[in-house]
Amino acid sequence: MKAAQPPPFTFQPGRHLEVLDDPIHDPYHPQKKLSEPAVCSECGAVFHEGRWQWITPAAHALQTRCAACRRIDEEQPAGYVTIEGQFAREHRQELLSVARNLETREKAEHPLQRIMAIDEQDDKVMITTTDIHLARGIGEALEHAYKGDLKFHYNKDEYLLRVWWQR
Ligand SMILES: [Zn+2]
Repeated sequence: MKAAQPPPFTFQPGRHLEVLDDPIHDPYHPQKKLSEPAVCSECGAVFHEGRWQWITPAAHALQTRCAACRRIDEEQPAGYVTIEGQFAREHRQELLSVARNLETREKAEHPLQRIMAIDEQDDKVMITTTDIHLARGIGEALEHAYKGDLKFHYNKDEYLLRVWWQR
């Protein structure tokens, strides 16, 4: 018998992916520091003070394309979240709104964190993201809300994070 109440969300230090904090592995991360201010000609995000923000670009801002727009155009996700299991099938729309709500919150602060696609199949759902942090965040949000089993596999060479959540 499982306890009726899920335990409070606790951070598991053994699973912390420190390497995710180091953007140098990302092939979409510019090798040279981007000159400021720069504006993405596709989504309008502005690179200012070392980070991407949703602000009004300066008139002289350099036109560029942000990593998220390039990944979307080239169909090269950084994160893959696979959601499986009977509970997941029965509560699919609820789980997907958890993922979408997280994206909305994250994207407001971090313009490059976006869901690329949601592929709904009979027995599973695959969410692809432009950023590995969002993929990890979706997995952790599902685990936080519904328990279940959460697994990560990080490929440093390709800067790819695969996340499985199952219940
Ligand atoms: Zn963009």
